[in-house]
Amino acid sequence: MATFEGITIALSKGRILKDTLPLLAPLGIEPTENLDTTRKLIIPTTRADVRLLAVRATDAPTYVQHGAADIGVAGKDVLMEHGGEGLYEPLDLGIAKCQLVVAGPKDFDLSGRQRLKVATKYVNVARRHFAAEGRHVDLIKLYGSMELAPLVDLADVIVDLVDTGNTLRANDLEPLVHIADISTRLIANRAALKTKHTAITALINDLKEVLAP
Ligand code: AMP
Repeated sequence: MATFEGITIALSKGRILKDTLPLLAPLGIEPTENLDTTRKLIIPTTRADVRLLAVRATDAPTYVQHGAADIGVAGKDVLMEHGGEGLYEPLDLGIAKCQLVVAGPKDFDLSGRQRLKVATKYVNVARRHFAAEGRHVDLIKLYGSMELAPLVDLADVIVDLVDTGNTLRANDLEPLVHIADISTRLIANRAALKTKHTAITALINDLKEVLAP
């Protein structure tokens, strides 16, 4: 495949893409394909020196870590779970803000349980969180609808994102422990920051200007 000399940005389809495109538009970066309908995964933009990769949210750090994309956009939750090796995190885009929490049935006594069963898609984050408290927990990996797990005794508690808290409330659950404040971050490949220093720094500075003019 021909090498692309410009900047490749990894963006995940869905919430992040929807929130990120308005930040890129003032920089003259707009997709030339309709993202709702295109099946293309490499998407040219109105700037010849910038192209977008449509990736799965959890894959964005991996594309940037390995240099397949120079920069990317990922939730702090995804970065915490990924580990962030080889990545530089120059900018908090301040979008998709929420919290990562341990949640469970109302008034659940976390310390009263010898062996805790924790369902989550953030197994690394959950393991680290409970290990820091000196607790060894049984982790159950799920890919969605974590809130269901405590309701059907698959797990005692979950580690998940909470925004309004409506989903927890609707299922008679509540946040028990705050783990981290989450927002969307710009990430950059450390090597690309050196080899494409001028172009990437300019883009980061332009984005900063859009965020706080
Ligand atoms: P809420 O009912 O507003 O608390 O939203 C909770 C549900 O939305 C959970 O299933 C979360 O996993 C998901 N969620 C909340 N905020 C975000 C976010 N910033 N990014 C991705 N998923 C989120």
